[in-house]
Amino acid sequence: MSRLLFVTLLLLMQLRAAVTIDLSQDAIANAQTILVTLYADANEPRIDRLYVAFDGKRWPFYRNPFRKGRSFYALVPASFYAKPGVRKLVVVTVERGRKHYYAFNTEVYAGAYKVEKLHVAPSRAKISSKNRKRISAETKEAMRIYRTSTPKLYIKAPLALPLQSRITSAFGNRRLFNGVLKSYHSGTDFHAPVGTPIYAVAAGKVVLAKDRFFAGNSVIIDHGQGIYTCYYHLSRIKVKPGTWVKKGTLVGLAGATGRVTGPHLHYSVRVNGVQVDPVAFTETFNTLFSKER
Ligand SMILES: [Zn+2]
Repeated sequence: MSRLLFVTLLLLMQLRAAVTIDLSQDAIANAQTILVTLYADANEPRIDRLYVAFDGKRWPFYRNPFRKGRSFYALVPASFYAKPGVRKLVVVTVERGRKHYYAFNTEVYAGAYKVEKLHVAPSRAKISSKNRKRISAETKEAMRIYRTSTPKLYIKAPLALPLQSRITSAFGNRRLFNGVLKSYHSGTDFHAPVGTPIYAVAAGKVVLAKDRFFAGNSVIIDHGQGIYTCYYHLSRIKVKPGTWVKKGTLVGLAGATGRVTGPHLHYSVRVNGVQVDPVAFTETFNTLFSKER
């Protein structure tokens, strides 16, 4: 072997060893999230830019605030409508103007989501043109919120759930309203009689606190870096838009406002604009706090 080739190989081996990348899972159901962590050794040249390429999109890396040194993390959600199949997840780093690619084989499989039949009052099932306008404005407002990604992460501790209760309707159930298929269940429903206290799952800023057609009294919290949590059908809202909350702050009381069949808490999570399974996301995100990462 020539000396030059030997030196090149040695350098390549060093480059490989200097960046450690870890995936929380290499197979996820649709609407689940892969957590990618990256640690760059101090000897590694400065990483000027890095991102994940997955499913035809780029997903941002952020500095991991829970680890010392050059640690980064990225949340890569698959949408509920993601087609099952094998996909390459590629971590791209740019060092001194040169791109480096780290490819992983991942799979999105079809989640075991159920079909649910629901009956609601015809006035709520059949939507008047006035209400259609209202719904459209509310959807636009929410989408504007979810498209915004605050660079700072406000989360300081592992995510909690908004209350300790049993799940009455899981995320992802396909729903037949009065016999008509209407999309899927975009959150997790918890058993919660009217008046049950509902708490913020982590620190953040309240970005929406108002009554809406489907969701009723709603609170949305921005946790930074593209993470939002939503608390719906509240009987009373206890926070105002712009309020900073801590993990465990009372955000409202459970109720039966909006389009519901009875009192409960509908809890949902958005990650980088994508609606994900809140319970699965909580588990995945919280691995950021485990020692191995
Ligand atoms: Zn729900």
